[in-house]
Amino acid sequence: MSPPHRPAPTMGHNAALAVAGRRRHVLLFPLGYQGHINPMFRLAGILHARGFEVTVFHTHFNAPDPSRHPQYRFVTVPDGISGPAPVAIEDVVSHIFALNAACEAPFRDLLAAILDEYSRDAVACLVADGHLLSMVQVATRLSVPTLVLRTGSAACFSCFLAYPLLIDRGYLPVQESELETEVSELLPYRVRDLMRVGSHDLTRELLARVVAAVDASAGVILNTFDALERSELEKLRRDLTLPVFDIGPLHMFSPVTESSLLRQDRSCLEWLDARPTASVLYVSFGSLACMSSRDLVETAWGIASSGVPFIWVVRPGLVPASVEEKETTATRLPDGFEAATRGRGTVVAWAPQEEVLRHPAVAGFWTHCGWNSTTESVCEGVPMLCRPHFGDQMGNARYVEHVWKVGFEVGGDLERSAVEAAIRRLVTGSDGAEMRARASELKKAAKECTGKAGSSDLAIGKLVDHMLSL
Ligand code: UDP
Repeated sequence: MSPPHRPAPTMGHNAALAVAGRRRHVLLFPLGYQGHINPMFRLAGILHARGFEVTVFHTHFNAPDPSRHPQYRFVTVPDGISGPAPVAIEDVVSHIFALNAACEAPFRDLLAAILDEYSRDAVACLVADGHLLSMVQVATRLSVPTLVLRTGSAACFSCFLAYPLLIDRGYLPVQESELETEVSELLPYRVRDLMRVGSHDLTRELLARVVAAVDASAGVILNTFDALERSELEKLRRDLTLPVFDIGPLHMFSPVTESSLLRQDRSCLEWLDARPTASVLYVSFGSLACMSSRDLVETAWGIASSGVPFIWVVRPGLVPASVEEKETTATRLPDGFEAATRGRGTVVAWAPQEEVLRHPAVAGFWTHCGWNSTTESVCEGVPMLCRPHFGDQMGNARYVEHVWKVGFEVGGDLERSAVEAAIRRLVTGSDGAEMRARASELKKAAKECTGKAGSSDLAIGKLVDHMLSL
C-alpha cells in the first residue's frame, strides 16, 4: 500500500462537511481504460474541492501516476494479469471480466485495511466504475455504501436496462436484415444503434453485470447534463428506484487533463494558433477504436483532397499490426500523404483533446463518438463527423445526428471521395454551419448547467449530501 498523503483541507468546501466536524474519506475505483479514467479523476477533483479526502484504488493495468495527483492517496490492487493490452473489443470485454475476478480478493483485503486505518465512520462511500461489479460486491459485504459512476450517456444506460426486454421482443440478437428497424421501446435508437461489443452473449453479460452493480449501489452518477438528456434522465428516474446524479459534463468542473495515459503532443496547439477561426478539422478515434489499413488509406486521401487544414491523431496501434509487423507499433500513413498535405496539416500520436476542441481555429471533429469525445465536442460548440465503431458509439452518433443535429455519420466502407465530401460539408458547407450554430447553443446550455445553481452544480450538492447521509 502506498504511504498516505494528507494535504491541508481545501477551503470553501461543503457546509455539511464542516458540520460533520471531520474530513470524510471517499474511495474511488476507476476502470483502467482512458475513457473511464478521465471522468473518475474529474469526479475526484470535484469531491476533493468539496472537502473529501480521496483514496484511489487502481489496477496495475494502466495505473495512474501518483506524482501527478499529490493530493490523493493511491492504493494498487494487484490484478495478476500480464501481457499486452487487449486490442479487439471482445478481448477488452474479456479483460474487464478478468480484472474483476483477479482484483476481488486483494481488493477485499486492502479495503478492510483501509477501513481499519481510517475508521469505518470516516469513510463516506466507495465510488466504483459501473464495470467493476466485483468491487461493488466486496464493498457491500464489508458494509461500505457504494455509488456507481457510469461514464456513458443516460440513453445508453437505458439501453442496458432494456436489454432483456429487447431480447424478449426479438430485436436481439441483432439480425443483419433488421439493422434499420426502429426500436419503438427505445427511440430514437434503431437496431443498429444498440450497444454491441463483439458477440451477443458477451454484450448481454457485460450489460447485465453493470445493471447488477447499479442495483447493488446506493445511487448512480452520470457524466451527462440536464439540458442535453432531459427526457432520457426522466425516463431513467422512472425506471430506477435509486437516486440518479447527472453532474456532467465532468470535464467542465475540473478541466485540466492530468489523467492521460499517453503523452499529449502539445505542439498542435501552437500549430492551431496560426490558423484562421473555424478552419481546421480535428480527427481522432479515441483510445481503443481501430481501423483497417484500407480505411486508413481512404481516410488519408479523403483528408488530403478535401483541402481542409487538419490535426489527425494517429495513435500507435490505430491500425492493428499484422503478425509479421508485430514489432512495429507506429501506424504508417500512405506514401505521398505527407508531401500532399505539407503545411496544411499536422499528425500527432496523441493530442491534448479538450484544449484542441476549445481552440477557436477548430471547425469540426471527426470522431468515433466515444461519450467523452462527444460531450467534449458538444461543450465547445464543435460539430461532428461520426464514425462509430462499437459499444455505445453507434447510439451516441444517433443522438448527434438525429436528436441534437450537431453532426452526421460517415457510414459504410470508407471511400476517399465520400470522405472528402463529408469533410467539406461539415467544415465549409451551409448545413455544417447550421450544425455549428446548434452546437453553440449546446455549449451555452452546458455552461449554464455547470455554472452556479445550474442543474449539474445543484446535483453535485445533492450528491455530496447523499454521500454524507449513507
Ligand atoms: N483523448 C486525448 N487525446 C487524444 C484522443 C483522446 O486526450 O488524442 C481523450 C479524450 O479527451 C477523451 C478520452 O481520451 O477524454 C477518450 O474517451 P472517449 O470516451 O471519447 O473514447 P474511448 O477512448 O473510451 O473510446
